[in-house]
Amino acid sequence: MSPAHLTVLSGPSGVGKGTVVAALRQRCPELWLSVSATTRAPRPGERDGVDYRFVTRERFAAMVAAGELLEHNEHFGNFYGTPREPVARQLAAGVPTLLEIEPAGARQVRAAMPDARLVFLTPPSMAELRRRLVGRATEAPELVAQRLARAELELAAAAEFDAVVVNDDVRRVVARLLELMAE
Ligand code: 5GP
Repeated sequence: MSPAHLTVLSGPSGVGKGTVVAALRQRCPELWLSVSATTRAPRPGERDGVDYRFVTRERFAAMVAAGELLEHNEHFGNFYGTPREPVARQLAAGVPTLLEIEPAGARQVRAAMPDARLVFLTPPSMAELRRRLVGRATEAPELVAQRLARAELELAAAAEFDAVVVNDDVRRVVARLLELMAE
């Protein structure tokens, strides 16, 4: 893997980014995953400082105002952002770094850090994405409908990315990501 590279994995909500990241980290333990700040409430089992930094809206706004976030965006009523300093520190130390964020945030990273490698994960089909969102069962049916509508818009962003990978098989996706990260 080339040293000190920033990879941004993005794609629509429900495409399976989390599963891919978990499998990728198993294959590549030296990869450092950024911990985002969010105003959303923790889900069962999520740990503060590990899965996310869970912050109040006031704290999030203060982080934005102080320029502490590399990128940030609102996603279904909650705010999400990537703390800038830890990413800079890892990259400066030569540690390969990964962000897992939604497409609008990825676009902001591209503008701030043109060398970042942007990878877009797509579902094999919209039908499959619907199946995954329903199967996840963490969201009410009206939220699933909202997420599908947003996914249609987000899929249009794929062309702006350096690589588009279809999430049909996690092992294949991880192998492809490792290839891209080695370029
Ligand atoms: P969830 O609430 O399901 O954990 O995440 C919702 C969406 O927010 C996902 O698409 C996830 O990739 C995205 N996300 C997580 N962290 C960040 C972040 O720091 N910045 C941006 N722009 N999106 C994020």
